[in-house]
Amino acid sequence: MVSSHRIFDGRRLLVLLSLLLSAGFFATTLGSYFVSKNVIREAIIGRELPLAASNIYVELQKDLVQPVVISSTMAHDTFLRDWVLKGELDVSEMNRYLQEIKTRYGAFSSFFVSERSASYYTGGGVLKKISPTEPRDAWYYRVRDMEDPYEINVDPDLANQDAMTIFINYRVFDFAGQYLGATGIGLTMDAMHSRIKNYQQRFQRTIYFVNAQGQVVLRGHNGTPASTNLRERPGLSELIDRILLDKNGGYQYEAGGTNHLLNVQYIPELKWYLFIEKDESEALAPVRQTLYINLAICLTITLVVLMLTNVSLRRYQRRIEEMAATDKLTGMLNRQAFDILMDKLMADRARAPRPVSVLMLDLDHFKWVNDQYGHAVGDRVLCQVAQTLQQMLRKSDIAVRWGGEEFLVVLDNCALEEARQIAENIRERITQTQLDVAGQALVLSVSAGVSQLGGDELPDQAIRRADGALYQAKDSGRNQVGVADCVRAS
Ligand code: GH3
Ligand code: MG
Ligand code: MG
Repeated sequence: MVSSHRIFDGRRLLVLLSLLLSAGFFATTLGSYFVSKNVIREAIIGRELPLAASNIYVELQKDLVQPVVISSTMAHDTFLRDWVLKGELDVSEMNRYLQEIKTRYGAFSSFFVSERSASYYTGGGVLKKISPTEPRDAWYYRVRDMEDPYEINVDPDLANQDAMTIFINYRVFDFAGQYLGATGIGLTMDAMHSRIKNYQQRFQRTIYFVNAQGQVVLRGHNGTPASTNLRERPGLSELIDRILLDKNGGYQYEAGGTNHLLNVQYIPELKWYLFIEKDESEALAPVRQTLYINLAICLTITLVVLMLTNVSLRRYQRRIEEMAATDKLTGMLNRQAFDILMDKLMADRARAPRPVSVLMLDLDHFKWVNDQYGHAVGDRVLCQVAQTLQQMLRKSDIAVRWGGEEFLVVLDNCALEEARQIAENIRERITQTQLDVAGQALVLSVSAGVSQLGGDELPDQAIRRADGALYQAKDSGRNQVGVADCVRAS
């Protein structure tokens, strides 16, 4: 009945709570997401990629060791050196020797270049005469003058339709330490391609080699970069000069909407840079999934907390409202509830005019009951009377515990005569109710005053007139109903 008058508004509390919860949850969830993102990114750049790079480097060196050993064997072969010292007479002998090396070790090509005759021998015969003025022969003169016993060089192979080939160029000396020429084998790039493809599969990274000009020279078959020149590759073009200068390092660049994590390692044997790349979004997929799960959990928790809070808030609200609106002893409405309900009734009556009457009841000689039987019995009697009263009234009537043993009833849609009749019924019922007090029957009586609310009269005025009628009833000997005269509308 009084629920429309909230004691406090819980909605603001709910909004505040949901804001606090979601802000807290979002802050911690997103915070930990960004922290793990950074940790993973740093782990990839700082540890994972360099580790993969050095693993690949080690394997690459291992892959290059066997060809170097073969080339070294060739450089120290007594047949080769004797054949040169004897004046390079039978070319077919040299051809057979080189052909044998090539097929036995599965090399792409095998060669010997003589210092004395300037002949370039292969398994198929004399390929050509080398010349210091020919740029393509520059490698030979470099090898001749270098200090190391051998070099690894990447060049197009003239003997094989200029296919890019990794050459091991080994210096050859005679038994007295005289320089005789250069020998060695060439490794097919195809073999390197499948090796890189194998690395890529094992390390789950994009792997490729870049030369000093920033051009991709070697890559696996998968994860092929969009452009062979890194100066034209989006995201990398601004970085490439720095990368080539640094030789070794970790980098990040944006391309195709994702962040790429890159590790670069310079390989001096090849004079190439080993690029190992990882697409960050791939690496972060599990973290992002965790983020979504966490957000869903937070959202669910927030909703559940809000729902539970709302339910208990409503329950407390109702309890508080009941407590604030009812009298503790009898459970009847108290004066505060009466004020609210009366305001509402007056507003309704202004919209739909109808007769409203007021009934004031006061127990007769109640002090005597208290004195005779004690306060506790008095309380029980009051409850009994309240119960009787509520049984006899309609739902639309407002029954209030007005004072100690005084009750006020507002009868909606009820004219004075009908109200007097109701008061009479109540009075009679109470006289008939026998109360059992400590084995003795107690008979109670009540006096009442009735008034009808005048057209523009305030409730207080009608109550005062009912009160006056009640005192007349008391004066006239109690256990009776007094009626106040109707007031005329002005
Ligand atoms: P009358 O109304 O007929 O003139 O006589 P009365 O004895 O009822 O007189 P009055 O109305 O002045 O006395 C009211 C008494 O009701 C006084 C007080 O002790 C008692 N009373 C008021 N509230 C309570 C209550 O909550 N419990 C009990 N047990 N007694 C109450
Ligand atoms: Mg009284
Ligand atoms: Mg009394």
